[in-house]
Amino acid sequence: MRLAGLQKLTLLDFPGQIACTVFTPGCNLRCPFCHNPDLVLPPLLSEEDLLPEETFFDFLQKRKGKLTGVAVTGGEPTLQPDLPRFLARIREMGFGVKLDTNGFRPQILKEIVNAGLVDYVAMDVKNCPGKYALTTGIPVKRAGELWNTVLESIFFLMERHVAYEFRTTVVGGLHTTDDILQLAQLLRGADQWFLQQYHPADDVVGDFLPNGGLGGFVGDVLSNAGSGDAMGDFSPNAGSNGVQGDPLPPSETGSEPGSVQGLYEPSVQMLEEMRREASVYVPSVRTRGI
Ligand code: SF4
Repeated sequence: MRLAGLQKLTLLDFPGQIACTVFTPGCNLRCPFCHNPDLVLPPLLSEEDLLPEETFFDFLQKRKGKLTGVAVTGGEPTLQPDLPRFLARIREMGFGVKLDTNGFRPQILKEIVNAGLVDYVAMDVKNCPGKYALTTGIPVKRAGELWNTVLESIFFLMERHVAYEFRTTVVGGLHTTDDILQLAQLLRGADQWFLQQYHPADDVVGDFLPNGGLGGFVGDVLSNAGSGDAMGDFSPNAGSNGVQGDPLPPSETGSEPGSVQGLYEPSVQMLEEMRREASVYVPSVRTRGI
């Protein structure tokens, strides 16, 4: 299991648990507003930075009786081939498990949930279908096909096999109230849905991509990189030359770190208006991080 980092204590990441958070490297998306370019863009993550799995489990052993849960996040954890074994080992030690996912690998999600390896799933629902490519960097020409994988994960979670939440990071310049209303109709009846306020950061994924990551860069690259299964194309090591993850230095993108053009922190009023309108369809919708 490839691990990129560990936050030793969190009271926020795993509802109701005193937890640690472990980060996995690699992601199949390129959300321009993502705060973790070092987890998402392979050239920014060196193998020497990885946390040995045994170091993590030694830590966990020492925290027995103090921590109650482990939040597994990324990057995108479902890209790790040995995720089920890793989660099973955490559970065998008596800890609860929370999984964060972008929902692009529904089969893995189902396998993990059906095997009883997680107690809680937090799934990102990035935007309305028509803006998924813009918001996540997936190829525009495959957006419909890939949206269906997201839908499959949404519908699976809404069958309530496990406790779950949906969450949408609301980014000024990417989300409008109409977009959120479209999502609200789709998520009608969801147990929990959080609208999270985007906060600009010093480094975001878009800083390392041409046009701030808003121009379909991944799609252009993939069209030259050959095709595989729906998600194989997006795996952290996709492409024989690793081109998918190769970032350009910020100087070549024409933007300075933290300054993806057109993206901004939405106001509290904007979030509240979205929440109010969405609550007609999803009464449980709440705002977070404001
Ligand atoms: S899904 Fe998007 S926000 Fe999440 S780690 Fe990947 S690029 Fe970042």
